[in-house]
Amino acid sequence: MPSLTPLNQLLRVDTIVAGGLVVTMDEQRRVIADGAVAIAAGQIVAVGKREQVEASYRADERIDAVGRTVIPGLINGHAHLPMTLFRGLADDQDLDDWLQHTIFPAEAMNVDEAFVRCGTRLGVAELIRGGITTVCDMYYYEMAVAEELAAAGLRGLLGQVLIDFPAPDAADHAAAMACLARFVDRWQGHPLITPAIAPHAPYTVADDHLIEAQAFAVDRASPLIIHLSETNHEVQESLRLKGARPVEHLARIGLLSDRMVAAHVVWAEAHELDLLRDHGVGVVHNPQSNMKLASGVAPLPGMLARDLAVGLGTDGSGSNNDLSIWEEIDTAAKLHKLISGDPTMVSALEAFEMATIRGARALHLDAQIGSLEVGKRADLVVLEMEAINQIPLSSIYSALVYTSKASDVCDVLVEGQVLLRQRQLKTLNNAAIEAEALLFRRQIIERLGLVP
Ligand SMILES: [Zn+2]
Repeated sequence: MPSLTPLNQLLRVDTIVAGGLVVTMDEQRRVIADGAVAIAAGQIVAVGKREQVEASYRADERIDAVGRTVIPGLINGHAHLPMTLFRGLADDQDLDDWLQHTIFPAEAMNVDEAFVRCGTRLGVAELIRGGITTVCDMYYYEMAVAEELAAAGLRGLLGQVLIDFPAPDAADHAAAMACLARFVDRWQGHPLITPAIAPHAPYTVADDHLIEAQAFAVDRASPLIIHLSETNHEVQESLRLKGARPVEHLARIGLLSDRMVAAHVVWAEAHELDLLRDHGVGVVHNPQSNMKLASGVAPLPGMLARDLAVGLGTDGSGSNNDLSIWEEIDTAAKLHKLISGDPTMVSALEAFEMATIRGARALHLDAQIGSLEVGKRADLVVLEMEAINQIPLSSIYSALVYTSKASDVCDVLVEGQVLLRQRQLKTLNNAAIEAEALLFRRQIIERLGLVP
């Protein structure tokens, strides 16, 4: 603990977030009343009682959190940010119909670099407002996605998509691999952006290309993001064509590893969960997307029982139709109670862990983010606790999971930089983003021949 120091000997830091209830999500799950977090050069240098932190550090900027809650920045483990422009374009369809009859044609007619930049800015503005400080994204033109995130100051694990049909940014496989190499080489070592390779799914990428993707990921020490076992149809086709379920098949061809982030994993049996755990695969649960597309219910209790690294994601706004991780936390806690008939399943604490420290493990970034601890990057959120939907406060995890909303987020810092202050975006122009998004929406509707 820091000792009392004369004022002229106080250590100078960039920012102190002071007062309020600090929910650390550290190993002991400490919750500190009247706490404080000191930040220097983008890193957390002290977490403790306000009195003690302020007795040792003096800050250029002080953020008052009295009466509020300070939490680790939330993690959205699966998204397709440019698809925010497809929000509400087609609802109430199954995944195959939705992809084949709306999304793939809409993408073929609209997706270029300008579209990707606009959709990303729109998505990033929503993420920051909702207290999300790290997003795992996969799409085309991921170079542009990375540039937009870096400019806005948001952290991202970003995957350039590899898919076995002509993509908007690559006519064939050779062009896609060249694009991918440029992307990964450009961003490796960046403080905010972790570049990754993202083969779309085992049913859209041939085995030899999956194996090539894995070799590339090993060579560059980069993560590999993939959609896996999302629907029963995918499992049945895998059994018919490859003689194995998708997880079994990926294990067989050597793809499962501790660099993989697998989205969905809805249709997985116990032995497949064992395979994922044994290979250190990170899994991202997307309950609302899975519900809306009626894909199924992922075996989350089985994942947690195995201590799998499982986080939460929204999926793209084309399918779910917002980027709020608060709704996913709430849904994850409730859905599995309903399905199992057991209200003790997925406690509030377990649900909140999935959006913070366990979600960081799922993205293999837990050495840097996911909790408020000395040495970690300074990604944190100050939450209003006196909104009408939150009064009265009983238990903090109950409040965070069952009552808090994205609209309760007041301040957001990533790498020590303030991105939202008193609900105002500091690195993005809200009005310009809205106007630009409406122009693109008009273009999408016109090109698809839809009646506005
Ligand atoms: Zn997805």
